[in-house]
Amino acid sequence: MLEKIVIANRGEIALRALRACRELGIRTVAVYSTADRDLMHVKLADEAVCIGNAPASESYLNVPALISAAEITDAVGIYPGYGFLAENADFAERVEQSGFVFIGPRPETIRQMGDKIEAIKAMKRYGIPTVPGSDGALGDDPKQTILTARKIGYPVLIKASGGGGGRGIRVVHSEAALLHGVDMTRAEAKAAFGNPVVYLEKYLEKPRHIEVQVFGDGFGDAIHLGERDCSMQRRHQKIIEEAGAPGISAKLRDEIGMKCVKACKQMKYRGAGTFEFLYENGAFYFIEMNTRIQVEHTVTEMLTGTDLVREQLRIASGLPLSVKQKDIHFRGHALECRINAEDPITFMPSPGLVKHYHAPGGPGVRVDSHLYSGYKIPPNYDSMIAKVITWGETRDIAIARMKMALDEMVIEGVSTTISLQRRLMDDTHFATGGVDIHYLSQLLKLH
Ligand code: ADP
Repeated sequence: MLEKIVIANRGEIALRALRACRELGIRTVAVYSTADRDLMHVKLADEAVCIGNAPASESYLNVPALISAAEITDAVGIYPGYGFLAENADFAERVEQSGFVFIGPRPETIRQMGDKIEAIKAMKRYGIPTVPGSDGALGDDPKQTILTARKIGYPVLIKASGGGGGRGIRVVHSEAALLHGVDMTRAEAKAAFGNPVVYLEKYLEKPRHIEVQVFGDGFGDAIHLGERDCSMQRRHQKIIEEAGAPGISAKLRDEIGMKCVKACKQMKYRGAGTFEFLYENGAFYFIEMNTRIQVEHTVTEMLTGTDLVREQLRIASGLPLSVKQKDIHFRGHALECRINAEDPITFMPSPGLVKHYHAPGGPGVRVDSHLYSGYKIPPNYDSMIAKVITWGETRDIAIARMKMALDEMVIEGVSTTISLQRRLMDDTHFATGGVDIHYLSQLLKLH
């Protein structure tokens, strides 16, 4: 087992990683910016190193500072979490070149999956179903672009190959808007990601977002841990996630899951990963692969009784997968509500002092949060401050427990989205299950 690692992240995921390390006897080094001295995991870690100023570009994205932190503390590995440098292939490469273990996939894999056209090409080779589209990058010939779009059929989506976080995507409903849209997306993509390459995809009108959690040992063994439904999104940001996905049968889960496993075996995938699909009319369409742990990994943990961060640390230590596919069972249903320090109506960020904090409890309730009474939320980072997760023998029980948990939870001093989440738990369409990715935005517009 790795002896000591640097946790190159902040907030709830840094605390989550610290807890997994504690359990495994791995010593921990917290790194923090000057705005983050009071983070819970900084107090709990064996050692803590300040890596720079509050702006992420000067701290959590500062590669030399992170490598130095590992060097001066004699750590052997670096855990990236999600966000920041988690899917930065250059960072993973630098970590490895400096003699440390990068707790994640190989840099080449991160690079390949970070380029959407490359990722789709690879998936096609591995037999994963993809969205009908332009089959690679769009060339410079406008006539050809028009023909390609006609063949796909409108509406089409123009996507930047280097895009991410919901940026570099544009819907086009008619031929009249196509060429201008392509030029705009190219220009935006060049400015935002330094890569002007774009491609076309069929725009699916009412898809659900369903993703599959996988793990590979890096040597050709792999498993899947079922699917999650993350269709409740606002501006491409997931708000509520659940496992399993409503209406997905065990047979369908197994079919899509085993396709992902086969792909992971072929690419000798290492560590945790997620295949993201759009799901429409009974068919799955691959959109991208995330080469990291995800915010919503918790619902899979509750459903399968596994610890995904522990699994990441084991694999990074060179150990085999701790479970075989046949040992993974899917029991009951799990939900996650993300709680943000934001106004629940305008979504304006609301950083500041948490005067009072009380976490909910009871059977099947889990809270992943770095909050405590007296903690001051800095304005510099993502506004997610807690994840409330519930499990039940049925989806209805998980929802009932979520209602209780949200009612019990107290965060005073800042605005939060608890009340919004509580209202969503009463929504009849959500209660039925299986809403599409546009549902939440439409619902919010009505209010
Ligand atoms: P990013 O890397 O920016 O998250 P994705 O490829 O995952 O980009 O797409 C982001 C979101 O855009 C998806 O979650 C989905 O809501 C929407 N989207 C992507 N591709 C399509 C498509 N072909 N049809 C309809 N919506 C799509």
